[in-house]
Amino acid sequence: MTKIMDGKALAAKLRAELKEKVAALKEGGKEIGLAVVLIGDDQASKVYVRNKIKGCEEVGIRSYSFNLPASASQRDAENLVKELVASDNIHGILVQLPLPSHLDEQAILKLIPPAKDVDGFCAQNVGNLAMNRETIVACTPFGVMKLLEEYGVDPRGKNAVVLGRSNIVGKPMAMLLLNADATVTVCHSKTKNLKEVCAGADILVVAIGRAKFVTADMVKEGAVVVDVGMDRDENGKLCGDVDFESVKDKVSMITPVPGGVGPMTITMLLYNTYITAMRG
Ligand code: NAP
Repeated sequence: MTKIMDGKALAAKLRAELKEKVAALKEGGKEIGLAVVLIGDDQASKVYVRNKIKGCEEVGIRSYSFNLPASASQRDAENLVKELVASDNIHGILVQLPLPSHLDEQAILKLIPPAKDVDGFCAQNVGNLAMNRETIVACTPFGVMKLLEEYGVDPRGKNAVVLGRSNIVGKPMAMLLLNADATVTVCHSKTKNLKEVCAGADILVVAIGRAKFVTADMVKEGAVVVDVGMDRDENGKLCGDVDFESVKDKVSMITPVPGGVGPMTITMLLYNTYITAMRG
């Protein structure tokens, strides 16, 4: 019987635990603060920011929301981030991407010190992850590892295939699985024999942004399949990178979309904010 890995339930459990930890810190006089910076009018970004602020409220983290207009200059954006960096009340800084195209995204992100980089995107945090040292881990792959742990999937010695090599999902995912002693293969758009490589995976993590791309013939019987994708199908309905219906009966465990990896991402952002506050 295939197990459906329920990210919604795990996210709710982790948030409840976090809420208690945050409350305990508050009793001791420490309030955790997360700054969320939104620049411009991107509708999807507005929704993400709203959900992040809602998540903070749910666990008792104080959110500081900053909105700059799409016309904001590089200097305006950099000055705001510098102010947030200097504030003792703010333990984590999140600049919602993408930024308006006239802004130099890297120059702005570089101002966030590793200790306040709750997205885990900066070079030092990524480098620490690569060296398997204490770090802040990018939220989505971190959430995938929590899901695997919750469902008793130990990557040690397993063949893990990561489909996708983005800086925010695929690469950190591969490093986490490697750090957990899996034998890791990373695939991308130039990979040859993709079907065969995926079909050799004990653990297959898919993050490519192609609706229902992974079909039953690409997965091994009994594999664990984690679908990071958030796509729209031919009817405009939210779906993943994996063709859930055709794959689900062949594998031992699979994440649904929605309700799998998605709810874990913001939860791990809240968790990362707690970690930065504890270290700070
Ligand atoms: P991305 O930056 O666009 O990267 C996509 C990766 O997939 C690239 O490495 C690309 O290869 C590879 N790829 C694309 N088409 C392929 C194909 N036909 N065969 C093999 N590889 C292919 O995407 P991303 O930001 O990692 O996001 C991936 C998906 O995850 C999206 O659906 C996104 O919405 C979703 N996502 C979900 C969450 C969440 O919280 N659930 C968070 C982040 C992202 P090349 O490098 O060769 O171009």
